[in-house]
Order: sequence, then structure tokens, then C-alpha cells
Amino acid sequence: MRLEVINTGTELLLGNTVNTHLAFLGATLLPLGLRIGRQLTIPDGDIIGDAVRETVGRAEIVIVTGGLGPTSDDITRELIAELLGMRLELNVEVEEAIRVLLWRRKREMNEATRRQAMVPAGAQVLANAWGTAPGLYLPPGPVASAGGALSPHLFLLPGPPRELHPMVQEVMLPVLRKICEGRTVIRGMKNFRLANMGESQVAAAVEEDILALGGVELGYCARAGEVVVRVLGTPAQLAAAESILAAAFPQHYFTAQDHPLEFTVVDLLMRMGQTVATAESCTGGFIAHRMTNVPGCSAIFPRGLVTYANEAKTELLGVPAELIAQHGAVSAEVCGAMAAGCLASAGTDHALSVTGIAGPGGGSEAKPVGTVFVGLASRGREPVVEPHLFKVERETFKQLASQVALDLLRRRLSRMI
Ligand code: ATP
Ligand code: MG
Repeated sequence: MRLEVINTGTELLLGNTVNTHLAFLGATLLPLGLRIGRQLTIPDGDIIGDAVRETVGRAEIVIVTGGLGPTSDDITRELIAELLGMRLELNVEVEEAIRVLLWRRKREMNEATRRQAMVPAGAQVLANAWGTAPGLYLPPGPVASAGGALSPHLFLLPGPPRELHPMVQEVMLPVLRKICEGRTVIRGMKNFRLANMGESQVAAAVEEDILALGGVELGYCARAGEVVVRVLGTPAQLAAAESILAAAFPQHYFTAQDHPLEFTVVDLLMRMGQTVATAESCTGGFIAHRMTNVPGCSAIFPRGLVTYANEAKTELLGVPAELIAQHGAVSAEVCGAMAAGCLASAGTDHALSVTGIAGPGGGSEAKPVGTVFVGLASRGREPVVEPHLFKVERETFKQLASQVALDLLRRRLSRMI
């Protein structure tokens, strides 16, 4: 069914507030087989009337957020009632609910708050458990100013996220489900993640095979250090797409879950009952930060060191000062010694190390800005040091360096190296 969203709020257009309603609605409606086909953000005020009129004849369902409040710029209700030729009537149940809510907040009802109890005749009230303004569902009806064409199914929802979220989940979705019954095809979606790949490489290798599954929808999203391959289709098609990706990129494909690489790494360590420590220089603790974003990580991550200065590498990791003098702090030798020293002092099963030149200063011809080494020492296994070059600004550099380091550990845990 053709669905559109209109987000109202001047703050959304002035850059004060990020429009999170759009992402929330997009994700929440998908399991019903509904996709947002078009979205419009408009300032508070009377433009809402025009915005809704423009959807008549084009959209079957329109969801409007914001502008239901008690202040003078909240005129969504009034303008849409006018557009649809519906009379506003005082709804005594809504009025009572508002009175009780205000009483609990030790406030009295005034003209402005009573205005929120005015409901267009024929509209269905969507109860608001968290605020004064109820949501409204307006079934299709003729719109005089659009030549009598039928209006879409209209949902008016409040602006505050803590009011909108429960209202959508608990009150709006059941109404929407009835409207969509038999009209939508429910398809699953999976986001398959591949570490340290370019999206064009992935597309070139798998696109033809995945599209040959027939009726699937395929998309790519390139992020720092990973590609997300989005597939929509039946459960069987999703499983087949996963097999295609895993076979094409056995070293890179790591999860079909909606979480970043550190979750896969922590999960592998937990299942294997193994531990890791980190010794970071240029990433400044970013690997430790990512590890500790994962619930339960304390079981497998006892310590992370930030050894930024040469002396710190010597004092805390036992890297010989001569080794640093001979090869430089950013070198494969020092990176390997950092991992070995970290493994010995932490007593873990694995130790990851990173040293590099984030820039913009500090590069040389032999070691340009962006040079980074990641190292891994593991009990009873050969140590590994990998060189990389990331010519990006500092934050992306840290993201990319942490990604290759975490991926090094992932591949070791999966017995790929
Ligand atoms: P209501 O009509 O229910 O009072 P409103 O939109 O008129 O809603 P506002 O005061 O404009 O009320 O907004 C309430 C809060 O909700 C503000 O903090 C606003 O920034 C936030 N908000 C509104 N729309 C969005 C949105 N699309 N995404 C994220 N936050 C939003
Ligand atoms: Mg608003």
C-alpha cells in the first residue's frame, strides 16, 4: 500500500532536532509489509493543510507527526479537520483523560489544554498514555478541495518521542493491521555484514546470483571498515542469499545480525571461554571502547591499555627502548612487541596491539600519515602483524584501525589465521 509520512516541527528544519520519528516509523512498519514511499518535513503552521491535500489521490495511508500540542503553532488537528470538512467536537472522554493527567502533574486545565480534547467528528481517538494530546485516526472521506477525491487513511500522532513510540506500538499498529489485511506481502529483511570490503567488490561478486533468486530486493551500505548488504525476501531467499555471500567471502562475512563487529568478536570469545587484552597507541582506547559496548564483555576483556608515549610502551608493555629507537614507534617490530608484552603481562589468551600515524602531522616518506600496524599475539599460536594505510581524518582513522584489529582477532578465533 502506498504510504507517506509527514513530519511537522520547525525545530527539525532548523537543525535543533534530528528527525528520529522517520527511522522509528520505517523500522516499525516494515514487519507489516509497509514501506514508506515518500516523506516530507515541514515547519509548524498552516502548511500542513497543503501538505496533506497533496497526498490525496497519491497515498493510501498518511502518517503525520507533531503539531497536536496546546500551543498556538500546534494546528494540525484544526487544519486537517477543515480540509476534510469535519466538525471539531468536544470529546468528553478525552477531556476527562487530560484533566486526570494534568491533576497528577498538579496542573489545572485551561483553554489551551482543553483544545486538545476537540476531536473531528468521525475520527477514532488513539489514546495517549504519556501526554495530553491524543492521536487521531481519520478514515478516508471525500475532500472537496481535491474535487471530491478520497483522502488517505490519516493518522495524526503527537511529536514527543516518548508519547509517539508507545502510541504507535500499542494503539496505531492494530488499526493499521486491519487496514492492510490481505493487501501487503510480508517479507523479511536481513542486513549481512562483511568486514573490510568495498561495496563495489561485493556487488560485483554476488549481485547476479542474489538477484537470480527472483523477487528479492538488494541494497548496499558502505560504512567505515564494513559493507552492509541489505536483502528483502522470503525466509528461504534470505537463507540462500546468506549462503551466496558466505561462499563468496568466507574470510569477510561475519554476521546477519544488526550489530557491529565487536559483538561477533565478544560472542566468539565467550563461546570459546577465551580472553583478550588490548595495547593501543593511535586508537587511544577506541578498541576497548568498542569491546565494552557489548554487554557481558567483562567475562572476556580484563584490561585495555592506552600506551601513547614511547615510555608508556616500555614501562607498561616491556617494549625495549632500543627497539623503538631502531625501528620507530610506528613499526611492525614495535607493534609485535606491544602485543607480546601485553599478552605476557595480562595473562590473557590473546592480546591485540595498534600503533600508527593518525596525522595530519608526523608522517615521513617511508611511513606516510595513515600508516598503521595491527598486531595479535595468542597463546600457542604464531604472532601476526599486519600493515595498513588509511588516508582519512582522525576519527575515521581510529574507526578503520580498530576495525582491522578486531577483524584480525575474529579471523584467529574462527581459525582462518
Ligand atoms: P504535540 O503536538 O504532541 O505536543 P508537537 O510536535 O507539537 O507534539 P513539540 O513541542 O513541537 O510538540 O515537540 C515535542 C518534542 O518532541 C520536542 O522536543 C521535539 O523536538 C520532539 N520531536 C518532535 N518531532 C520530532 C521528530 N520527528 N523526531 C524527533 N523528535 C521530535
Ligand atoms: Mg512540534
